[in-house]
Amino acid sequence: MTQSPANTPMSINADRAAGLLTIDWADGHRSEYEAVPLRLLCPCAFCSGEAGRPGWLDTNPTLTSEQTQMVGARLIGQYAIAVTWADGHDTGYYTYESLRENCPCPACTIARAGQG
Ligand SMILES: [Zn+2]
Ligand SMILES: [Zn+2]
Repeated sequence: MTQSPANTPMSINADRAAGLLTIDWADGHRSEYEAVPLRLLCPCAFCSGEAGRPGWLDTNPTLTSEQTQMVGARLIGQYAIAVTWADGHDTGYYTYESLRENCPCPACTIARAGQG
């Protein structure tokens, strides 16, 4: 695994009231993830599938308010964050690398679009 300033968090703030996960990276970049898109990124086997099989999120489910309400976040070792949702789901380990790759800020969105 490659650890670089771009995927090393300096500070992580889970604002449950606002439904916002904010990460300041070691390279000075800040990423703010809203709860709904964050839930849609859930990398767990149930949500995203495994071994080539589609997951629950691939069925374009209608998410309930409980499923998109962030109630907590905890660190998984040195490499990931697990978010707990109000419906009890907490098995999605969001690696720093994937979080940074999916940074929703305008600059990163444009950069990703440019990569085609
Ligand atoms: Zn999941
Ligand atoms: Zn960004």
